[in-house]
Amino acid sequence: MKITEIAAPGHEHVVRVEDAETGLRGIIAIHSTRLGPAAGGLRMRAYADEAAALEDALRLSRGMSFKNAAAGLPLGGGKAVIIGDPARDKSPELLAAFGRAVEALEGRYWTAEDMGMTPADMARIGQETGFVAGLPDGDYASGDPSPVTARGIFNAIRTTARHRFGVEDLNGRRVAVQGLGHVGLHLCALLHQAGAALTVADIHAASVQEAQERFGAQAVAPEAILQVEADILAPCAIGAVLNEETIPGLRVQAVAGGANNQLATAEDGTRLHERGILYAPDFVANGGGIINVATEILRIDGRAAWVAEKLSALDATLDRILTRAAALGVSPNDVAEGIAAERLSRQAA
Ligand code: NAD
Repeated sequence: MKITEIAAPGHEHVVRVEDAETGLRGIIAIHSTRLGPAAGGLRMRAYADEAAALEDALRLSRGMSFKNAAAGLPLGGGKAVIIGDPARDKSPELLAAFGRAVEALEGRYWTAEDMGMTPADMARIGQETGFVAGLPDGDYASGDPSPVTARGIFNAIRTTARHRFGVEDLNGRRVAVQGLGHVGLHLCALLHQAGAALTVADIHAASVQEAQERFGAQAVAPEAILQVEADILAPCAIGAVLNEETIPGLRVQAVAGGANNQLATAEDGTRLHERGILYAPDFVANGGGIINVATEILRIDGRAAWVAEKLSALDATLDRILTRAAALGVSPNDVAEGIAAERLSRQAA
């Protein structure tokens, strides 16, 4: 196994890992350990080349520092990527080699599940290192984070509604939900319970049918969901859906959802702001997932109460962000990044 350091300005420690025997090639990027050990998932993808893998790891690990700081967790930001098609190139030996690379970092980085990984893969990695979360079983195993993620997004939608409409009650409000996967369906259930009317879209017809049957949702084609007239849009599928092309066509008053990296560029936060659309920054709205994973990393006893307290603090943070953004007349995303950066630097002092 070859582990070589890569210079990456702004990042604390970035390594390239290569194991010829198993075909492992990847990057582990530690953005910051100022608040605690760096935590962030492992993603396996058929990247075009190593430069693309490195760029993804750097961008995602920085995002994890901000997300963990916003969630008030004693965790830093990190991310790992493996270059390869998970369906074709993943093997128990390759995962074991990755586990040894994580172990070599001596706890500065904790890995977990992300795209292309499963709980069983985490268990294989866990045979080589203790610095892994998202295990299928064990004393502190935290299981599927999606219900907690959805609860956090639901709170964010209510808070955003309070700032945009003056009332957080969602009874009678229309919410357009893009993506009915793990997070989207849990979120729809909470919104339905709260009396919201739903318009939904997914590329999987079966999920759409489930939302229609369980929640009386109106369905639209995937390409139409970003132009639906509604009070709030909740993107819960893919990234970069808020961009130069889509923002002018939005017919909502607010956006609050769970997908990572909803803004294609930082300027898109300003574009939303200029259109008078209130945006709940994604890395704050979807922080419930990492809060759930943190219970495993930090070995939290009395998990439910701890998660509830962290979710409520996260909601208070969003409230502060939206209040400050309104007072300054700027995009909430800029304020959220500022608050996260402040928390990161305060700890360093
Ligand atoms: P998922 O894969 O279970 O669900 C995604 C859903 O989006 C799928 O049903 C898919 O068919 C649908 N989809 C894909 N492209 C679409 C399109 N163009 N239009 C409409 N639907 C489309 O994933 P998930 O776990 O529900 O996560 C959803 C988003 O939330 C992702 O961006 C993820 O990174 C983010 N997120 C998830 C968690 C979590 O706890 N699962 C935590 C934080 C952030």
